[in-house]
Amino acid sequence: MQPYMDRVLTDAERGEAEAHLDECAYCRKRYRFEETLRVFVQQAVAAEPMPVELKRKLSELRTPLQ
Ligand SMILES: [Zn+2]
Repeated sequence: MQPYMDRVLTDAERGEAEAHLDECAYCRKRYRFEETLRVFVQQAVAAEPMPVELKRKLSELRTPLQ
């Protein structure tokens, strides 16, 4: 599902991905988590300097989604 997040799919592929999100709770959760994580990262980046501990937690969070 990562290409969907980066908006690099064709219209047809995006339609398939959205249809899949409608029927697949697992991918829907992952998609929402990724969106939440992006907002969280943006807020964290805005707050300088980023604590080392926060950086470590973020890298742990991202690992299963790569
Ligand atoms: Zn799925």
